[in-house]
Amino acid sequence: MNILVLNCGSSSIKYQLREMSEGSNVLKAKGIVEKIGLPMGDIIYRPTGKEQSMIEQPIPDHTAGMDLILKALVNPETGVISSLSEIDACGHRVAHGGEYFSESVLVDEDVKAKIQECCALAPLHNPANLNGIVTMEKLMPGVPQVAVFDTSFHQTIPEEAYTYSIPSKYYREDKIRRYGFHGTSHKYVAEKACKYLGWDITTKKIITCHLGNGASITAIKYGKSVDTSMGFTPVSGVTMGTRTGDIDAGALLYIFEKEGYNYKEANDFINKKCGLLGISEKTSDFRDLADAANRGDKLSKLALKVFYYTIKRYIGSYAAVMDGVDLIVVTGGIGENNPSVREEICGKLSYLGITLDGKANLTREDRIISTPDSKAKVMVVATDEELVIATDTARLAQK
Ligand code: AMP
Repeated sequence: MNILVLNCGSSSIKYQLREMSEGSNVLKAKGIVEKIGLPMGDIIYRPTGKEQSMIEQPIPDHTAGMDLILKALVNPETGVISSLSEIDACGHRVAHGGEYFSESVLVDEDVKAKIQECCALAPLHNPANLNGIVTMEKLMPGVPQVAVFDTSFHQTIPEEAYTYSIPSKYYREDKIRRYGFHGTSHKYVAEKACKYLGWDITTKKIITCHLGNGASITAIKYGKSVDTSMGFTPVSGVTMGTRTGDIDAGALLYIFEKEGYNYKEANDFINKKCGLLGISEKTSDFRDLADAANRGDKLSKLALKVFYYTIKRYIGSYAAVMDGVDLIVVTGGIGENNPSVREEICGKLSYLGITLDGKANLTREDRIISTPDSKAKVMVVATDEELVIATDTARLAQK
């Protein structure tokens, strides 16, 4: 089955075409449409085994963007399929499923209405995700559409972990609570690690650390998410590239009043101006930050220290929440590529019975990086959220 995977943002569309068959999958093409709605947009198209291309042209809306993607896929010279009828289903990443969705679903009118309702919870992402679904329905009528939610894996979190200490009417009336994000990634890497170790996930306590530009930590007890560091929005938790992570709300009120920020400015501040970028006053990119720290830049060194510290604090608290831990999994652009990050966050966890294997830790592959006698294991596992979307889509579309 050929599955088109779409991740629609407000001004961009990331896409992949994957051929899914029993036990294997082939990436046929991937790319991104950018700057939708701006005077000049572009589409980058990377067919597997062929040359990459980029075309610049105005892309007024998502329909025009999707149209470009479909045309690229069937282009007689550089395309990877000969006609659109070879696309069997389309899987969409959807940021927020609220309390409605605890798993991926085939899209129908009711599903669309619920995603629409959740736009209030994720105003930056859900409208674009829904727009992607509606557009594909128009461009490819009759082709099954599947919604895969960032929040659904965390719907098992108990009420004491998802309830904020605010008047309960805000939960009753506005559904304000912890939801958590990166769910597809946390679930995927935990399951993949257990498969690798030959473990039954329903008997294990696992802490997954997704460390990318956005970062979150999840406690997975017996196969279910029981707590996660992101909350009502993806701003909370550990320090991120540009997001604050956990912060006293009073400190934000102080800054907003001092700067006279309106809602949009305040939202931009907590999402785009803080985190590693804010502390270092240099960059949100981990590699650049590590380079600056190596050159002796004091604020970059401090940003790194804060990043490591907030992660360790979550690991400790989740070990407490689950009364122990059998496995820590590290993933994401930073976690997968950077041995020193893993050394910093897992190197001194002897109270959890963890000893890192310095040599194994130099890996960039899926691998155990703790010593054989380490009581709890540590693993690096590459995440693949698009594969999860393609797999769920193929499964549901076949039904
Ligand atoms: P992600 O959001 O998962 O794509 O991760 C993006 C982050 O991973 C950025 O901060 C990058 O600097 C970082 N990153 C990507 N590749 C590497 C690498 N080879 N070494 C260190 N950090 C990396």
